[in-house]
Order: sequence, then C-alpha cells, then structure tokens
Amino acid sequence: MSDISHAEYRRRRVKRLKRMILGAIFILITLPLACSIWLLCEMHAKENELAEITAQYEAQLQITDELQQKLDEQTAEAEAKYEDLLAQMTEQSAQENIEVEEPGEVPDGIRRVYLTFDDGPSVYTEQILEILDEYNVKATFFVTGLEAETNPERYREIVERGHSIGMHSYTHKYSEIYKNKESFIKDYIKIRDYLTETVGVTPTIYRFPGGSSNTVSQTDMDELCEYIESEGVRYFDWNVSSGDATRYELTPEKITANCLNSVGNFNTAVILLHDTGSKYSTVQALPAIIEGLQEMDDTQILPITDDTDVIQHRKNKETE
Ligand SMILES: [Zn+2]
Repeated sequence: MSDISHAEYRRRRVKRLKRMILGAIFILITLPLACSIWLLCEMHAKENELAEITAQYEAQLQITDELQQKLDEQTAEAEAKYEDLLAQMTEQSAQENIEVEEPGEVPDGIRRVYLTFDDGPSVYTEQILEILDEYNVKATFFVTGLEAETNPERYREIVERGHSIGMHSYTHKYSEIYKNKESFIKDYIKIRDYLTETVGVTPTIYRFPGGSSNTVSQTDMDELCEYIESEGVRYFDWNVSSGDATRYELTPEKITANCLNSVGNFNTAVILLHDTGSKYSTVQALPAIIEGLQEMDDTQILPITDDTDVIQHRKNKETE
C-alpha cells in the first residue's frame, strides 16, 4: 500500500469516527429533549383531564347543595304546616275549656277586660301601640323570642309605653317545648333571660302556647303548670277569643263581634288577640273593639298585673 492511500484510509476513518461521535452527541441531546416534550404534552393532557373531572365534581356538589337546600325548604314548610295545624287543634280544644259564667252583677261594680296580644312582636306592634295610645288603653303582650334586628326596640317600646309584657315561650314550637319537661324548662329559661336582658325586667306572667289545656303537649301539663308556679310566675289563659288565629283570615268586623259579644259573659274577661305579621285584620279591628268596650257600662280595660285574677283553663277543668 502506498503512503498516499494509507493516509487517505486514515483520514476517512477519522472522518467516520467523527460522524459517529457527532451522531451519538445528537442522539444524546435530542432523545431527552423529545422525552421531555412528550412528558410535557402528556402532563398538559392530564391537567386538562383533571380540570374536567374537578369541574364535574363541583357541578355534582352544587346539584347536591341545591337538592339539600330544596329538601331543607320543604322540611321547614312541612314543619310550619304541622305547627299551624297543631295551633288550630289547640285553639279549638282550649275553646272547649272556657267556662261561661252566668251573666250577673259585677261584684265590685267594675267589669275588668284585659286585651292580650300573643306571638309578637311583629311588623304591626308599632301600629297596635299607636292605637292603644290613641285610646289611652294599656294592654298585655305575651311575646316570643324573635331576635330579628328590629325587635329588641319593639320589646322595649311595649314596656316603656306602660303595657305589661309576658312570656309566651321562646320558640313557640309545640313539638319542641312540649317534648318533655327538660325541653320546656330550657325554652322557659331562654325566653325569661332574653326578655330580662332586653327590657330590663323579668316578666312574672306566662301564657302557654295553645293554652294550659292544650291537648298536643307530650308532657303532662299539670307538671309544667306546677313548674311555672314554682318559679313565682302566674300563667294566664283567656276566656274570650277574637278568633283571629284561624287559618282563614276573619274580617275586622267578625273579630270585633267575637270580642264584644262574649265579654258580657264575664266579670273578668281576658281577650285573646294576636300580634303577628299575618294578622292585619286584628290591627284593623282594634279601634272598634276598644270603642265597643269603652261604651260598655262599668267596664275598664286594664293591663294584667300581679293583682289580676288568673283566668286558667285547667282550673275550669278541675272544677268540672
Ligand atoms: Zn301563640
């Protein structure tokens, strides 16, 4: 082999070797790069997938929330209807326990009439107070624990304007307060403390939701009456019902007639009225009720005080 061809041979070998090294470098660089690009693409796809699944999950959650909300609303509605029905039944059974006196001479020459408003305060409390002021009449409010923002002022107004304030349970939910003695006491303490804190005095009168003769209580009412009395509190029922709590709203004329027609049967008449947002006809009837009472001979409209004779359905029951 000549020197030239030998040199040529070496040169070609070196060249081939160079090419091989460059090829290897190229592969070493591009392969990881390609892998990285592939991984990035894959990651992006997975991220999209995850976002889609998350969105679906959130949508499901929202549907669940909506369903739960609907269920809660329906449950609340059913509960309200149940309470309403209980109130109707209770009022009817209480009416049966009202003992009608023989209309006779009023012992000391004065018939005492007590206007009592249950279930408040409400959007109509202010109007009721205005009417009472207009006729210079004091009444009694058996209130519940309605802690709406505007209500503390209403509780205070009742007291500041010289009316009597009594307790009528905190929740007014028959199913809760009458479940057992413990739940009754818990509710009683709650309304007592709430009113003490809000109006600055502790009320000494109580009206049982549905009256002391209600038949819906799951607890012996005798026990609850005894408890109330052991607390130094007197409970009042009523002997004249305005009928304003019935499901179908009565006209103001009918409410007025219900009150005025029965008052004459009693020397001490406790009239049941309601102060709730759904009883505007009571507000409309009030002036005529007061005027009718003021026209009656030897009749005084008074607030319930510690001197007032109690009117209790249970007492009537016992003497039967
Ligand atoms: Zn009530």
